[in-house]
Amino acid sequence: MQFKIAEQGTITYLTIPQLEELGARLIFTTKKNGLSDISENALNLGLNTGDPIDRIRQNYSTLCSSLDIDSSRIVFSDQVHGCDIKHIGLKDLPSEDFINTRTLHAIDGISTNLSGIWLTTLYADCIPIFFYDFRQRAVAVSHAGWKGTALRIGEKTVDFMKKNYGSRPCDILCAIGPGLCRKHFEVQKDVFEQLQKLPYSQNFCVYEREVYSVDLKLANQETLLNCGILKENIVCSELCTFEEEELFFSYRRDKGKTGRMAGMISIL
Ligand SMILES: [Zn+2]
Repeated sequence: MQFKIAEQGTITYLTIPQLEELGARLIFTTKKNGLSDISENALNLGLNTGDPIDRIRQNYSTLCSSLDIDSSRIVFSDQVHGCDIKHIGLKDLPSEDFINTRTLHAIDGISTNLSGIWLTTLYADCIPIFFYDFRQRAVAVSHAGWKGTALRIGEKTVDFMKKNYGSRPCDILCAIGPGLCRKHFEVQKDVFEQLQKLPYSQNFCVYEREVYSVDLKLANQETLLNCGILKENIVCSELCTFEEEELFFSYRRDKGKTGRMAGMISIL
């Protein structure tokens, strides 16, 4: 399994072709070829980013038409840096205007075993974690900033899938998407200390030359391994959102004035 940059219609996005062969489609958008002014011709998909709502709407329309996504099947999370996970059923689908219909409150992880529903989360540096149980046919995506990582949202998502869909960790494929690398995630001591409580934190919490830094992708990978996900079933994107300015928005790099990429997964 590996992330690959793909193009379809006018959209440039990241995907994992092997997942598609196994029955799930993953999309992580880039900022290329949109209509937002937030940065030049950017595909901003963030709803509360100061960008006019019409631009966001047009960006979604381009995304959906290019990638054959039915917009009435898009369900957004409601990210608050918590660790609550919710099952998405047909009643959670937007009634008419998917952009203005938010059915979830304070939910950072969404999951379903129904096909054709697009679980959608938004990012500008935080880490997306995608899950696909190829045996029970269930998917999930969880938003892991440092808080979600410290709260072990990855493990909580796996527990959720076990309980709700009868998933076994050995059948779950996990993909950790683009986000900040360790070099670009310097933190304060209190944040560092919270992340140090995670399993094998010596591998991702580094204190060097009086600077605290954390590799959040690795932290999430260790958490997933610790709850029984197989090493060969985890893929991690090496791309750093801070560094890849052509491809990604970055909250840190753009000093808060930035757009959002969408991390989406669906059972085919
Ligand atoms: Zn970096």
